Amino acid sequence: VCLCASAYPGVSSYVSAAATSGKAESFTFQAEVNRLMDILINSLYSNKDIFLRELISNASDALDKIRLLALTAKESLGSNPDLEIRLSIDKEKNMLKIRDTGVGMTKKDLIGNLGTIAKSGTSAFLEQMQKGGDVSLIGQFGVGFYSVYLVADNVQVISKHNDDKQYIWESKADGSFTITQDKAGEDLGRGTQINIFFKEDAAAEYLDEAKLRELVSKYSEFIDFPIYLYASKE
Ligand code: ADP
Ligand code: MG
Repeated sequence: VCLCASAYPGVSSYVSAAATSGKAESFTFQAEVNRLMDILINSLYSNKDIFLRELISNASDALDKIRLLALTAKESLGSNPDLEIRLSIDKEKNMLKIRDTGVGMTKKDLIGNLGTIAKSGTSAFLEQMQKGGDVSLIGQFGVGFYSVYLVADNVQVISKHNDDKQYIWESKADGSFTITQDKAGEDLGRGTQINIFFKEDAAAEYLDEAKLRELVSKYSEFIDFPIYLYASKE
């Protein structure tokens, strides 16, 4: 794993979903997912770092999938042959971006995987938490993605799958999410970018380059793909 931090003046800024020309469609979360998000966003749990492990692990899974696909269908890599994860800190926007060149998600995937299709793990995890179980086990219940709401009050998932156009999933954990075709944002080519807008109390901690470097090196130990960390110049 290559961990390269650099002063990077030109970290491209993301055009907010509201600024895109696509029309936003609204969806409500499956009931248990909604409960889970509500608990996470209000959680006083102290080991919030684990959100980064979950998102890096999802990026890695998505990269595994496209790598496997490319074994039999080389053209699926298209003009994006580099399989990697890029994190960029944007202090001005209180935001961290995690981008992978993995398999990506279609519109249908975004709607199903991130909110509407019930997973047995959701209620099992809720039950565990009620018994005082460890929040950091969230990944084992198949709902690791939602741990991002331990630190964020708004999240955008921008994704481009080979079989579909580029879409933006967005939720403030208020019971619903929107899906918008991304017509104005940067073209991902293929893969997924998670834009994490930090809660006030989490921002200072996770926008700190040294802290992120430490976390990334800890969580990247078993990740098979290069991870790069970019920090915008102050
Ligand atoms: P799990 O990883 O255990 O399946 P998660 O809650 O972490 O559960 O993620 C839910 C699903 O969302 C994943 O199974 C995957 O289909 C999709 N997903 C999440 N992050 C990404 C990503 N970076 N790229 C592609 N798909 C993703
Ligand atoms: Mg996961």
